[in-house]
Amino acid sequence: MNAASPRAVRHLEPPTTLAGRLVARRFQIARRVSQGGILLLFAGTAAWGWKLAGAPLLAGNLSAATLAGSVPLVDPFAVLQMLAAGRVPESTALGGALLVLAAYLVAGGRAFCAAACPMNLVTDAAHAVRQRVGGRDLVHLPPSMRHWALGLALVLSALTGLAAFEWVSPIAMLHRELLFGAGLGLTAAAAIFLLDAFVAKRAWCGHLCPLGAFWSLAGRAGVLKIAFDDAACTRCGDCVRACPEPRILDFKDGAARGFVAAGECTNCGECIAVCPEKALRFDLLARARAPNPVPTEGKAP
Ligand code: SF4
Ligand code: SF4
Repeated sequence: MNAASPRAVRHLEPPTTLAGRLVARRFQIARRVSQGGILLLFAGTAAWGWKLAGAPLLAGNLSAATLAGSVPLVDPFAVLQMLAAGRVPESTALGGALLVLAAYLVAGGRAFCAAACPMNLVTDAAHAVRQRVGGRDLVHLPPSMRHWALGLALVLSALTGLAAFEWVSPIAMLHRELLFGAGLGLTAAAAIFLLDAFVAKRAWCGHLCPLGAFWSLAGRAGVLKIAFDDAACTRCGDCVRACPEPRILDFKDGAARGFVAAGECTNCGECIAVCPEKALRFDLLARARAPNPVPTEGKAP
């Protein structure tokens, strides 16, 4: 359905029961379980000696970890910085990076941002505060800044011979401080909270984070997509208002392709949860593709 459709625009009624509220927040709850579960696995291994098959369950950190003593899990962006720094990672680290890259190519690159990154808890909380107090942007940040930050991280890695972002990453700092109580992670998180709540909307994840930029590039080749049913959509705009990356919901492009193509999509599912017409859903790329792409009128209101 396009903008000229006679179909009436309607909105979901706010849920009045606990069950209704839980259903409305089902994707947010799933993401919190995932984020908390990952932290718990690291903490359980470090603090309480959790094991699997006699080996540490999940040892290390978000940059480089080992599952069950034998499965390496390495951040591909950290490996890219090492390569830029002129250091050749061990084959185990390369294998771990490829494994993580493959997993997030299936889940959609920025699924890392929505379901694994601990900073997402901070930025979502800041956004909630911002909505409550009616915060306005004090500065305009172009979304392309995060890609410049990514490039800068690689250039600095090449100049210093170190994986530059890993040394200053507030995400890694927060992870370390939550698990080991060491470092400046909570200070960095507080600064990002204030930035997102009172300076610019979605400033860190949406504009500045080079790790998010890396995963947005990978996300373009993601397998799990947000499928879009143009015939059902009334252009009510509720999905756009719920989306942490509202620029990516381009209805004309979605109608032509059958899915949200932008790598910036975090697969957070919030657009699905608020759509009154069930015009959005998770689906595999191969099934979501529009068979006969016909561009229609209309973009997010
Ligand atoms: S896809 Fe978005 S604009 Fe279309 S009906 Fe659903 S919430 Fe409204
Ligand atoms: S398009 Fe939907 S799933 Fe993707 S970031 Fe926006 S709200 Fe989340």
